[in-house]
Order: sequence, then structure tokens, then C-alpha cells
Amino acid sequence: MTLRLAVPNKGRLSERSVQILKQSGLEIEDGSDRKLFAAIKNRDLEVMFLRAQDIVRFVHQGAVDLGITGRDLVLEAGMDVKTLIELNFGYCRLAIAAPENSGIDSIEDVKDGSVVATSFPNLTKKYFSKLGKKVEIATVSGAAEVTPHIGVSDLIVDLVSSGSTLKTNRLKEIGVIAESRALLIANRESLETKKEEIKEISAAIKSVSDAEDKKYLMADVPRKALDEIKSFLPGIAGPTVMSIMGREDVVAIHVVVDKDKVYDSVIRLKKLGATGILIVPIDRMVP
Ligand code: AMP
Repeated sequence: MTLRLAVPNKGRLSERSVQILKQSGLEIEDGSDRKLFAAIKNRDLEVMFLRAQDIVRFVHQGAVDLGITGRDLVLEAGMDVKTLIELNFGYCRLAIAAPENSGIDSIEDVKDGSVVATSFPNLTKKYFSKLGKKVEIATVSGAAEVTPHIGVSDLIVDLVSSGSTLKTNRLKEIGVIAESRALLIANRESLETKKEEIKEISAAIKSVSDAEDKKYLMADVPRKALDEIKSFLPGIAGPTVMSIMGREDVVAIHVVVDKDKVYDSVIRLKKLGATGILIVPIDRMVP
């Protein structure tokens, strides 16, 4: 049975999604960017290139078995799909923002009757009605940031990652509705009918996603420093320690390190007399 996987055809999630497939060892045949769908070499798997928004619906309906899309879009669509993996990219938040000089500094300052421009009308409506605030929603399909400045809205609800777009548009963040990242989602029925196939591909994708936050570190270290090194480089099952021919006092270590700990680890290793430190990326981590 052919498995169908949808990935975003453009936009912020597209490039990394295709890259993840490649890193998983799934080679897209004749993978030109403009294609609508492609086969995967030596696998009973088809990849569809669709808009991130549409992927939720197609997975829900079963037109495709699996999809990579944003958590924000799954929540907004409110459709029942199964989240298989929270992927390590596409991080952003659905935030509420007001013009810098509006005097609106927090959600409490939002008055009934305010107009909120957003391309997330469902989540926005739910959020404000939960707070008991009667706001008017102006649905836009993009560029919500400009609407307060042309008198169309008082506030906006939009996706933010660094916050620089808000700043450029003289807006300030006053609250967060939801946190988002890329997800691998599945159709519930496919999970029953294509259980094994889905298990295989999601394990492959997870191994890539898990490796994303890690680096592989190798170094020659003085044997006497091993205990201290283990305390700050625990690795998955402890660092691998190997002897170096003709050297009693020095050993080689190999260890998986969190990306954000690499910088400090190198400084500590150097202080302990380590040499020949190599840090390399990891494509996949299969437990
Ligand atoms: P697209 O409109 O095709 O670029 O895809 C937008 C999706 O990318 C959103 O629904 C989010 O899931 C994700 N995303 C990640 N970071 C951001 C961001 N800073 N702004 C907008 N979308 C983001």
C-alpha cells in the first residue's frame, strides 16, 4: 500500500521539511522544487507538495496519510489528526500585539469593541471569549501588521518568532495565544491500516529531528581528567573512551553533546588539557 506524505511546497517550513526527508535516507526521485508530487526511490512512498494550511485538511480527510505542517495551523483548523512527532524546527508563537503608542500594554487593557486583525480567526475568537472580552475579528489573509496603522484594527494576532517584524512595524507584544513548531501529523484511520509503514517512516524522521539539537564531540584527553569530564559530558550512555596506541596518559573520547553546551564544553575540555577536539554534525540518532 502506497503511503502518502504531504510537505509544505513553499514558505517557512518547506525547505527544512524536504531536507529532513533527505537526511532520513528518503531520496526524492527527480526532486525538482516545482513538482506537485514525487516518488521516493525504492520505497512505496509518495511525497505531495502542498500548502502548509491545506495539509491539515488533507490529512484529516485521508487524502494523504501523513503531513508536515505547523502546530498553529492544526489548532486553527480544529480538525482531528494525530500528532506523531514534535519536530525541532518552525518554532514560533501566535501572539497578540498592539501599536507601541496605543496605551495597550497588556490583555487587561483591551477594551470591548476593539477590532483584532488576524489570519487565525478561530483561535483568536476562542481566546478572547474565554477571557470574556467582546472583540471584533477582522480576518485577513496576511500582513496583519500594517492594519493598525491604516485604521483597520486596534490589535493584531499573528505569528512571531524573533519579534523583529513587530518592532519594524512599531508594534509590541502583549500576550501569547499558543506556541507553535513543525509537527508530523497522521490520519487516524491510516494509523490502523498502514501501521507498520507509518511506524517506519516516523521513526526515521524522528531520528533526524532528535539529532538536530546534538553534536558529536571527539577529543584526546588526559586519562586523569576522565571523572571530571564525565560530570559535564554525560553523553547518552556515558562517553565512549578509547585508548590511543603508545599513550598511557591520554585517551580519546567520543560523546553526543547538546548543541547549546558545545561552547562551554570546549572551554572546560581545553582547561583540562584536551587536544584535537573535533565537533561534527549528526545526521540521525536511532535509539
Ligand atoms: P508559510 O505561510 O507557508 O510560510 O508557513 C507559515 C508557517 O510557518 C506557520 O503557520 C508556522 O507554522 C511556521 N512559522 C514558523 N515561524 C514562523 C514565523 N516567524 N512567522 C510565520 N510563520 C512561521
